[in-house]
Amino acid sequence: MRTTTKKLETNWSGKMSNNKKIRKTGIFNLSSSHTHIWKSNLSWSITLIVFLTIMFVHASILALSVKNEELKLLGELREKALSSITPMIDFRIQGELTSPIKQYYLNRIVSTTIIQGMVIYNSDREIIEAVGQPLAMTLGRKDSLNKTYRSYNGESYEVIFAPNELGTNFIILAKLDSISVKEELKRQVWKSITIMLLLSGFVTTVLMIALGKWLLEPIMFLKQDLEEAYKNPENPDISTSPYDEKNEIGSAIKIAQELIKENANNLKKIKSTAQDKIHKLAYYDSLTNLPNRVLFIQKLYEQSKLVADGKQKSFAVVALDIDHFKDINDSMGHNIGDAILRAIGKRLRLALPESATIARIGEDEFAITMPLGGSVQKAVEVGEKIQSVIKSEPFKVFNENFQIRASIGVSTFPTDSKDPDQVLKNADIALNRAKEDGRDTIREYLKDFDEVVQQRFQMLRDLRNAMENEELQLHYQPQFDMKTGKIIGAEALLRWWKKDNSKEGGKFISPGVFVPIAEQSGLIVPIGNWVTNKACKTAIKWQNEGHNIRIAINVAAAQFQQSDIVSNMQQVIDETGINPHLVELEVTESVFMDDIKHTVHVLDVLHSMGVELAIDDFGTGYSSLSYLRQFPIDRLKIDQSFIRNALENPDDAAITRTIIKLGHSLNLKVIAEGVETKEHEKFLIEQECDEVQGFKYSRPLPEDKFLEFINNYNGNLDSLS
Ligand code: C2E
Ligand code: MG
Ligand code: MG
Repeated sequence: MRTTTKKLETNWSGKMSNNKKIRKTGIFNLSSSHTHIWKSNLSWSITLIVFLTIMFVHASILALSVKNEELKLLGELREKALSSITPMIDFRIQGELTSPIKQYYLNRIVSTTIIQGMVIYNSDREIIEAVGQPLAMTLGRKDSLNKTYRSYNGESYEVIFAPNELGTNFIILAKLDSISVKEELKRQVWKSITIMLLLSGFVTTVLMIALGKWLLEPIMFLKQDLEEAYKNPENPDISTSPYDEKNEIGSAIKIAQELIKENANNLKKIKSTAQDKIHKLAYYDSLTNLPNRVLFIQKLYEQSKLVADGKQKSFAVVALDIDHFKDINDSMGHNIGDAILRAIGKRLRLALPESATIARIGEDEFAITMPLGGSVQKAVEVGEKIQSVIKSEPFKVFNENFQIRASIGVSTFPTDSKDPDQVLKNADIALNRAKEDGRDTIREYLKDFDEVVQQRFQMLRDLRNAMENEELQLHYQPQFDMKTGKIIGAEALLRWWKKDNSKEGGKFISPGVFVPIAEQSGLIVPIGNWVTNKACKTAIKWQNEGHNIRIAINVAAAQFQQSDIVSNMQQVIDETGINPHLVELEVTESVFMDDIKHTVHVLDVLHSMGVELAIDDFGTGYSSLSYLRQFPIDRLKIDQSFIRNALENPDDAAITRTIIKLGHSLNLKVIAEGVETKEHEKFLIEQECDEVQGFKYSRPLPEDKFLEFINNYNGNLDSLS
């Protein structure tokens, strides 16, 4: 009977309902085994085999015993017949031809005794008398005297009485009435069959009950456990086995239960490990093991709830971006980049209090949130702390020291916004401002930033329309050779004539305002393609007028990364038929900050096509001397800020001088832009600068005006002022 200890039940099914527990009692199992036993195919099969075996054995025994019984009964019948014959024999008659039994007696024997017919043979086996019913059996000379004959229907039995039995020389064959033997045998067989059936029925029932108890019930128990394990493999509702482990089924149940338990434990372990993994993947950054953006935002919501519940006053959100991280990645490889990111995460985690959440929310962007109050009252203080942590000492990675700088934007909940998502966006806006303001700095979110951002969006929309409405134009500013005074080139400069309702019908927007926005949005790519096309077409027009001058075109860094500048240039050359040597692309040093390998390759290809290359605003960027040797550059363009201040500021004068010397030592031409006065010009002549461009000679002019200017120019720089 199945019994269950309460303790084990709760172990295995702590949450089981009472109903379920009742299902586990022995009563249930006993009655169920009783009902099940009659439905069990196995029990029926075993029982049927046992039943048939009993029947077979019994039938065999019966067959043997019937034969013996028949022999015994026939023997008795024969004895009876003999005793009916012998008193009638006349022993005096020994002659061979006369019957030893008188006719009268013979008739009496066949009519009153079980003897139905008789044949008397003499010693020579000749028939001397036959009486009553004819016999089927005959006696030949060589026949044995033990011969008998049993009729087909069993109703007669023919026997031979030998001379020694009769006490005379004669032999008597007698046909005996054996119906009584047949009847007796029939009775005995029926009795035996009845006993056999009763016995088989009894044995079968006992066997079924025994099978039910010792075989079926434990199998049902095991089956129930297995079904349970199948339905609910993690928490199978199984109970202690009441079966003796010493017997085979009991030990099989024990092993099965252990397997089920082990399987459940393994499944639980696997599931919880998988859940941990999924959780990690969904909420953590695999590189730094810090929370990712999703978890960070969740934390912001948690904190905002604390503020709403009055448990916390406010919290800071800091967005941090590593300055020039892409350079490190490009120049040193991703392994170093990854190691630095890991080190930054680690250092921040160690330096900031437990209450701070540090997350990696972008490639080189981290976000930090921290409750405000107590010693830290302002979000900007958190930003400052973070900046000092980053800058305090270089990061040592693979035995190299990296001095990392970061741009930081801070925002406060609920001061800057009551929406946790928006606070992070605000910190990002402040971060962008920090980047624009020269990086390595902290900016706190201000409401005006939003307006600036909105204005930028508006300008971007307007700029897209401007392209379609052909509001963009090119102006051209002449470039001169200082020694000969000749116009050797013109720089194409973008102008946006933005139509409005003023009486002028619109106003010029400076490229200084819209080019950076176009660069950020990628709009500079189609604009740049248009500029190149338009500038080259204009240059061809001038050539047709006899002015073989170079056209300088400004190219933004984004054009190198986001477009196929080479095929675009080739297409313009093919379409306009311009001599590539008369096209110069001006790139700023920022182009070298991105993907250096790619930039070198593109510049090489362009140069091999014959296109000239100049570095614009030289001296303001990274000014790494190494790239000057690496790249196929033809010209350095000294930034106008140095020229403007050269006369007052000895440093700027020294820089200008150095740039000119450097250019010459590398066999490059040097052009100065922003030349506004005679003094500027004089200084540049002294420094042997090769070429000049500036307001002193001409402002950038529309296409027709430029042609006018060039036609009227007398070749003497002094005539221009
Ligand atoms: P940039 O390439 O350095 O161009 C020279 C800028 O200096 C021009 O300003 C020009 O008008 C101005 N300039 C020339 N001589 C003098 C001078 O004597 N004194 C002063 N104060 N300024 C002088 P602009 O046209 O406003 O262009 C500003 C910047 O916008 C350009 O600087 C260039 O970086 C960018 N830009 C202009 N056109 C394009 C373009 O087609 N594509 C791209 N990507 N950028 C352009
Ligand atoms: Mg330029
Ligand atoms: Mg410039």
